[in-house]
Amino acid sequence: MRLSRYFLPVLKETPSEAQIVSHRLMLRAGMIKQAAAGIYSWLPLGFKVLRKLENIVHEEQTRAGHIAIQMPILQSADLWRESGRYDDYGQEMLRMQDRHGRDMLYTPTAEELVTDIFRGHVSSYKDLPLTLYQIQWKFRDEIRPRFGVMRGREFYMKDGYNFDLTKEDALHAYNRHLVSYLRTYERMGLQAIPMRADSGPIGGDNTHEFLVLADTGESEVFYDSDVVNLSLANVGNGLDSLNYDSHEDMQAIANFFTSTYARTDETHDPKIFESQVPEERRRVARGIEVGQIFYFGTKYSEAMGATVQGPDGKPVPVHMGSHGIGVSRLIGAIIEASHDDKGIIWPEGVTPFHCGIVNLKQGDEEADAACDKLYSALTALGLEPLYDDRKERAGGKFATMDLIGLPWRITVGPRGLKNGVVELTCRRTGESEELSPEAAVTKIA
Ligand code: ATP
Ligand code: MG
Ligand code: MG
Ligand code: MG
Repeated sequence: MRLSRYFLPVLKETPSEAQIVSHRLMLRAGMIKQAAAGIYSWLPLGFKVLRKLENIVHEEQTRAGHIAIQMPILQSADLWRESGRYDDYGQEMLRMQDRHGRDMLYTPTAEELVTDIFRGHVSSYKDLPLTLYQIQWKFRDEIRPRFGVMRGREFYMKDGYNFDLTKEDALHAYNRHLVSYLRTYERMGLQAIPMRADSGPIGGDNTHEFLVLADTGESEVFYDSDVVNLSLANVGNGLDSLNYDSHEDMQAIANFFTSTYARTDETHDPKIFESQVPEERRRVARGIEVGQIFYFGTKYSEAMGATVQGPDGKPVPVHMGSHGIGVSRLIGAIIEASHDDKGIIWPEGVTPFHCGIVNLKQGDEEADAACDKLYSALTALGLEPLYDDRKERAGGKFATMDLIGLPWRITVGPRGLKNGVVELTCRRTGESEELSPEAAVTKIA
């Protein structure tokens, strides 16, 4: 992409309404524009990152054997009356009526809708296990929308639902989600720690939230500092050998990640914390909830009559769970975890462009030709460069590149070209080196 033809409305001033760095940087980098409280338009750069995250989520869900569907954003209230949640859900649910006076609502979550799909089409245990998921806009009328996309009212969420014959199978689905989520966050350059969370009125301990540690997080968390060292790299023979079908393998990984003390404030137990965790390893911190997995048994299947015929021919209500990833919130979390005073520093896996090209003397024949050549070479390798071909001062171009945080910048100017070199700068370390244009391309690829 050539910057002169792109739409990147960066702001010079720091917007005063933004209280945390990720919100400020998303506004300054021209990623989003507020449309109403907690509701945003996604501008090209922000939209590109959102799509990257969405792709990673799809790939990892597919790898785990989960199947994508798309359900509507507007739902009829009838299904929610069946489950009994229409009255319980409260004011976070945005309700409306259509022209015939029928009660409708904007999806805050979709257990009812997906259970209705299931009961309409699945009747035998032989069709299980089944996990359906979607990535779709949600609306929750949050009392205090804030921090930009972190706590929006409209937000983009992956929500998945498993249907299984037995509790044991459903717990395997739970573990599959846990593992696939860890892979997902890791590919986004993030560490999200699974923490035991509150399962509310249903009870049981079968729910974990995934938290990214950050001072600006809204959750208070308690953990053993050892938990931070756990990594998928230490599991079995590495990532690509994961066998999602193996109950034992999935259980072993889940145990590995959830045996060390890590809890949100609702489930935190000071007695256990103090007896299990040596004092020097006890940590109290803040975190951003970027996902949650939940096994809830037959709550919805019983209420809504989602049964299958079991091996003995008798109807059995299916065991279910629901599992969410906050896709749009993740962008804020990634920026909170990865920035400096000049701007965003995108992890390679989610960056909107792989590399910036800065032409120090636009209009100079040699410099223009060298930039065009770099652009083609990078594109031919399947990489996406962003070429700043505007007639601007070098300082302004550098500031824009630093703000939008691409991992690499190639700076091209007549003086370097006389010696056959360009400058390659790593956004994360700030280190620069001079090398031939070909060598720069090789290094980025
Ligand atoms: P929170 O505790 O932050 O209100 P939640 O527990 O109500 O979140 P879930 O129902 O678990 O949210 O939804 C799954 C995921 O969707 C969350 O883990 C979070 O990442 C994301 N999410 C929830 N509410 C919002 C929101 N208002 N804005 C952006 N993302 C959200
Ligand atoms: Mg909430
Ligand atoms: Mg929560
Ligand atoms: Mg939650």
